[in-house]
Amino acid sequence: MTTNRLLRLRYPTSCHRCERDLPRGTKARWDSASHNAACLVCDAENPADPFAEVDPELRGTAGGSAQAEHDRRASRPDHNKRSTDAWRKGADGERHLSKVLHKEVGKGRIVVLDDRAIPGSRANIDHLAIAPSGIYVIDAKNYTGKVERRVDGFLRWRTEHLIVDGKDQTKLVTGMDHQIAAVRAAIDQLDWSRGVPIVPVLCFVQSDWGLLDPTFTVDNVHVLWPQALRRRLRRDGPLDGSLRSKLARLLAAELSPAVPSG
Ligand SMILES: [Zn+2]
Repeated sequence: MTTNRLLRLRYPTSCHRCERDLPRGTKARWDSASHNAACLVCDAENPADPFAEVDPELRGTAGGSAQAEHDRRASRPDHNKRSTDAWRKGADGERHLSKVLHKEVGKGRIVVLDDRAIPGSRANIDHLAIAPSGIYVIDAKNYTGKVERRVDGFLRWRTEHLIVDGKDQTKLVTGMDHQIAAVRAAIDQLDWSRGVPIVPVLCFVQSDWGLLDPTFTVDNVHVLWPQALRRRLRRDGPLDGSLRSKLARLLAAELSPAVPSG
Protein backbone atom coordinates (compact mmCIF):
# COMPACT_ATOMS: atom_id res chain seq x y z
CA MET A 1 0.00 0.00 0.00
CA THR A 2 1.32 3.44 -0.85
CA THR A 3 1.39 5.84 2.02
CA ASN A 4 2.10 8.90 -0.03
CA ARG A 5 0.29 10.36 -2.97
CA LEU A 6 -0.28 13.56 -4.84
CA LEU A 7 -3.43 15.41 -3.85
CA ARG A 8 -4.97 18.82 -3.36
CA LEU A 9 -4.71 19.74 0.31
CA ARG A 10 -8.01 19.97 2.11
CA TYR A 11 -6.43 22.00 4.92
CA PRO A 12 -3.72 24.65 4.87
CA THR A 13 -0.33 23.42 6.05
CA SER A 14 3.33 23.96 5.23
CA CYS A 15 5.96 21.99 3.35
CA HIS A 16 7.88 19.83 5.84
CA ARG A 17 11.10 20.49 3.91
CA CYS A 18 11.18 24.14 2.80
CA GLU A 19 8.47 25.31 5.23
CA ARG A 20 6.67 27.36 2.62
CA ASP A 21 2.95 27.85 3.27
CA LEU A 22 0.71 25.51 1.37
CA PRO A 23 -2.80 26.99 1.27
CA ARG A 24 -5.88 24.79 1.10
CA GLY A 25 -6.33 23.46 -2.45
CA THR A 26 -2.58 23.41 -3.24
CA LYS A 27 -1.30 20.33 -5.04
CA ALA A 28 1.20 18.56 -2.79
CA ARG A 29 2.57 15.15 -1.90
CA TRP A 30 0.90 13.88 1.25
CA ASP A 31 2.43 11.13 3.34
CA SER A 32 -0.32 9.59 5.39
CA ALA A 33 2.12 7.61 7.57
CA SER A 34 4.12 10.61 8.79
CA HIS A 35 1.38 13.21 8.22
CA ASN A 36 3.85 15.30 6.23
CA ALA A 37 3.11 17.41 3.18
CA ALA A 38 5.80 18.25 0.64
CA CYS A 39 5.47 20.97 -2.00
CA LEU A 40 5.88 19.78 -5.59
CA VAL A 41 9.31 21.38 -5.92
CA CYS A 42 10.72 19.66 -2.81
CA ASP A 43 9.07 16.46 -3.92
CA ALA A 44 10.75 16.68 -7.34
CA GLU A 45 14.12 17.73 -5.88
CA ASN A 46 14.26 15.08 -3.17
CA PRO A 47 12.83 11.85 -4.51
CA ALA A 48 13.37 8.81 -2.30
CA ASP A 49 14.97 7.19 -5.34
CA PRO A 50 16.61 9.83 -7.57
CA PHE A 51 16.13 7.69 -10.67
CA ALA A 52 12.58 6.66 -9.83
CA GLU A 53 10.10 6.86 -12.66
CA VAL A 54 7.11 9.15 -12.26
CA ASP A 55 4.06 7.66 -10.56
CA PRO A 56 2.24 5.35 -13.00
CA GLU A 57 -1.04 7.25 -12.52
CA LEU A 58 0.71 10.47 -13.60
CA ARG A 59 2.05 9.13 -16.88
CA GLY A 60 -1.05 10.05 -18.86
CA THR A 61 -2.95 8.27 -21.60
CA ALA A 62 -1.83 8.97 -25.17
CA GLY A 63 -4.71 10.46 -27.16
CA GLY A 64 -6.89 10.57 -24.02
CA SER A 65 -8.37 14.05 -24.53
CA ALA A 66 -8.98 13.60 -28.25
CA GLN A 67 -10.58 10.20 -27.71
CA ALA A 68 -12.83 11.61 -24.96
CA GLU A 69 -13.91 14.44 -27.27
CA HIS A 70 -14.63 11.89 -30.01
CA ASP A 71 -16.72 9.77 -27.65
CA ARG A 72 -18.64 12.81 -26.39
CA ARG A 73 -19.49 13.87 -29.96
CA ALA A 74 -20.26 10.37 -31.20
CA SER A 75 -22.83 9.92 -28.44
CA ARG A 76 -24.97 12.70 -29.94
CA PRO A 77 -27.41 11.35 -32.51
CA ASP A 78 -27.03 14.40 -34.80
CA HIS A 79 -23.24 14.60 -34.76
CA ASN A 80 -21.24 15.59 -37.82
CA LYS A 81 -19.47 12.39 -38.81
CA ARG A 82 -16.56 14.15 -40.49
CA SER A 83 -15.59 16.27 -37.49
CA THR A 84 -16.23 13.41 -35.04
CA ASP A 85 -13.93 11.17 -37.09
CA ALA A 86 -11.27 13.87 -37.09
CA TRP A 87 -11.06 13.58 -33.28
CA ARG A 88 -10.61 9.83 -33.48
CA LYS A 89 -7.89 10.22 -36.11
CA GLY A 90 -6.21 12.78 -33.88
CA ALA A 91 -6.26 10.29 -30.99
CA ASP A 92 -4.85 7.56 -33.29
CA GLY A 93 -2.00 9.86 -34.32
CA GLU A 94 -1.11 10.58 -30.69
CA ARG A 95 -1.19 6.88 -29.80
CA HIS A 96 1.06 6.07 -32.72
CA LEU A 97 3.57 8.79 -31.87
CA SER A 98 3.57 7.79 -28.20
CA LYS A 99 4.52 4.24 -29.19
CA VAL A 100 7.42 5.53 -31.27
CA LEU A 101 8.62 7.77 -28.42
CA HIS A 102 8.38 4.95 -25.90
CA LYS A 103 10.93 2.96 -27.91
CA GLU A 104 13.45 5.53 -26.70
CA VAL A 105 12.09 5.37 -23.14
CA GLY A 106 13.12 1.72 -23.05
CA LYS A 107 16.73 2.83 -23.37
CA GLY A 108 16.44 4.78 -20.12
CA ARG A 109 17.46 8.14 -21.56
CA ILE A 110 14.12 9.87 -21.85
CA VAL A 111 10.85 10.16 -19.96
CA VAL A 112 7.62 10.56 -21.92
CA LEU A 113 4.44 12.04 -20.46
CA ASP A 114 1.30 11.86 -22.59
CA ASP A 115 -1.77 14.12 -22.84
CA ARG A 116 -1.15 16.81 -20.21
CA ALA A 117 -3.68 19.33 -18.93
CA ILE A 118 -2.70 23.00 -18.98
CA PRO A 119 -3.91 24.62 -15.73
CA GLY A 120 -6.66 27.15 -16.31
CA SER A 121 -7.15 26.14 -19.93
CA ARG A 122 -9.12 23.60 -21.95
CA ALA A 123 -6.10 23.00 -24.16
CA ASN A 124 -3.78 20.05 -23.67
CA ILE A 125 -0.21 19.12 -24.50
CA ASP A 126 -0.05 15.92 -26.56
CA HIS A 127 3.37 14.75 -25.34
CA LEU A 128 6.27 15.89 -23.21
CA ALA A 129 9.62 14.17 -23.68
CA ILE A 130 12.32 14.93 -21.13
CA ALA A 131 15.60 14.14 -22.92
CA PRO A 132 19.30 14.96 -22.37
CA SER A 133 19.04 17.91 -24.80
CA GLY A 134 15.92 19.45 -23.28
CA ILE A 135 12.20 19.27 -22.67
CA TYR A 136 10.38 18.57 -25.93
CA VAL A 137 6.83 19.89 -26.11
CA ILE A 138 5.25 17.84 -28.87
CA ASP A 139 2.06 18.44 -30.81
CA ALA A 140 1.11 15.40 -32.91
CA LYS A 141 -0.56 16.21 -36.23
CA ASN A 142 -2.18 13.61 -38.43
CA TYR A 143 -2.48 15.74 -41.57
CA THR A 144 -1.69 14.15 -44.91
CA GLY A 145 0.15 15.81 -47.79
CA LYS A 146 3.50 17.46 -48.13
CA VAL A 147 4.87 19.55 -45.27
CA GLU A 148 6.92 22.57 -46.34
CA ARG A 149 8.34 25.82 -45.15
CA ARG A 150 7.82 29.01 -47.12
CA VAL A 151 9.58 32.28 -46.52
CA ASP A 152 7.98 35.49 -47.76
CA GLY A 153 9.48 38.97 -47.94
CA PHE A 154 12.99 39.81 -46.84
CA LEU A 155 14.89 41.51 -44.02
CA ARG A 156 12.50 42.74 -41.38
CA TRP A 157 9.52 42.03 -43.58
CA ARG A 158 10.50 38.39 -43.73
CA THR A 159 7.82 35.97 -42.51
CA GLU A 160 8.02 32.20 -42.17
CA HIS A 161 5.07 30.00 -43.03
CA LEU A 162 4.19 26.38 -42.55
CA ILE A 163 2.50 24.87 -45.60
CA VAL A 164 0.75 21.52 -45.39
CA ASP A 165 -0.74 19.97 -48.51
CA GLY A 166 -0.60 23.37 -50.21
CA LYS A 167 -2.46 25.21 -47.41
CA ASP A 168 -1.03 27.75 -45.00
CA GLN A 169 -1.08 26.15 -41.53
CA THR A 170 1.15 28.64 -39.73
CA LYS A 171 -1.52 28.84 -37.01
CA LEU A 172 -0.28 25.45 -35.79
CA VAL A 173 3.08 27.07 -35.05
CA THR A 174 1.55 29.98 -33.11
CA GLY A 175 -0.59 27.48 -31.23
CA MET A 176 2.56 26.18 -29.51
CA ASP A 177 3.17 29.43 -27.55
CA HIS A 178 0.59 28.63 -24.92
CA GLN A 179 2.03 25.13 -24.36
CA ILE A 180 5.58 26.43 -24.03
CA ALA A 181 4.44 29.06 -21.52
CA ALA A 182 2.77 26.38 -19.38
CA VAL A 183 5.93 24.25 -19.31
CA ARG A 184 8.10 27.29 -18.57
CA ALA A 185 5.81 28.30 -15.68
CA ALA A 186 5.95 24.79 -14.23
CA ILE A 187 9.74 24.53 -14.23
CA ASP A 188 10.44 28.17 -13.29
CA GLN A 189 9.91 27.14 -9.68
CA LEU A 190 13.27 25.33 -9.79
CA ASP A 191 16.13 27.72 -9.14
CA TRP A 192 18.26 25.98 -11.78
CA SER A 193 15.58 25.96 -14.50
CA ARG A 194 16.97 28.82 -16.56
CA GLY A 195 19.42 26.64 -18.49
CA VAL A 196 16.85 24.03 -19.39
CA PRO A 197 16.04 24.16 -23.12
CA ILE A 198 12.35 23.89 -23.99
CA VAL A 199 11.93 22.71 -27.57
CA PRO A 200 8.57 23.09 -29.33
CA VAL A 201 7.87 20.38 -31.92
CA LEU A 202 5.12 19.84 -34.47
CA CYS A 203 5.32 16.17 -35.42
CA PHE A 204 3.45 15.14 -38.56
CA VAL A 205 2.74 11.45 -38.09
CA GLN A 206 1.45 10.59 -41.55
CA SER A 207 2.39 13.32 -43.96
CA ASP A 208 4.62 12.88 -47.00
CA TRP A 209 8.28 13.52 -46.48
CA GLY A 210 10.92 12.69 -49.05
CA LEU A 211 13.75 10.51 -47.81
CA LEU A 212 16.17 13.37 -48.18
CA ASP A 213 13.88 16.15 -46.98
CA PRO A 214 15.55 18.12 -44.22
CA THR A 215 13.64 18.88 -41.04
CA PHE A 216 13.17 22.61 -40.50
CA THR A 217 11.93 25.21 -38.08
CA VAL A 218 9.20 27.81 -38.52
CA ASP A 219 9.57 30.64 -36.00
CA ASN A 220 11.72 28.34 -33.82
CA VAL A 221 9.17 25.52 -33.79
CA HIS A 222 10.72 22.28 -35.05
CA VAL A 223 8.70 20.59 -37.78
CA LEU A 224 9.48 16.93 -38.29
CA TRP A 225 8.26 13.35 -38.53
CA PRO A 226 8.31 10.60 -35.85
CA GLN A 227 11.62 8.89 -36.70
CA ALA A 228 13.39 12.24 -37.06
CA LEU A 229 12.06 13.24 -33.63
CA ARG A 230 13.24 9.95 -32.20
CA ARG A 231 16.76 10.59 -33.51
CA ARG A 232 16.72 14.08 -32.04
CA LEU A 233 15.74 12.78 -28.63
CA ARG A 234 18.90 10.63 -28.60
CA ARG A 235 21.17 13.67 -28.81
CA ASP A 236 23.42 14.52 -25.89
CA GLY A 237 22.77 17.65 -23.90
CA PRO A 238 23.02 19.40 -20.55
CA LEU A 239 20.46 17.33 -18.63
CA ASP A 240 21.86 14.32 -16.80
CA GLY A 241 19.72 11.48 -15.46
CA SER A 242 19.14 13.10 -12.10
CA LEU A 243 18.02 16.44 -13.59
CA ARG A 244 15.76 14.66 -16.09
CA SER A 245 14.18 12.71 -13.28
CA LYS A 246 13.53 15.89 -11.25
CA LEU A 247 12.04 17.71 -14.24
CA ALA A 248 9.86 14.72 -15.12
CA ARG A 249 8.50 14.46 -11.59
CA LEU A 250 7.71 18.17 -11.39
CA LEU A 251 6.10 18.29 -14.85
CA ALA A 252 4.09 15.12 -14.18
CA ALA A 253 2.68 16.72 -11.02
CA GLU A 254 2.16 20.30 -12.27
CA LEU A 255 0.78 19.39 -15.70
CA SER A 256 -1.33 16.45 -14.67
CA PRO A 257 -2.88 13.96 -17.09
CA ALA A 258 -5.75 15.62 -18.99
CA VAL A 259 -7.84 12.48 -18.60
CA PRO A 260 -7.44 10.59 -15.31
CA SER A 261 -6.06 7.13 -16.02
CA GLY A 262 -8.57 4.38 -15.41
ZN1 LIG B 1 8.94 22.58 -0.19
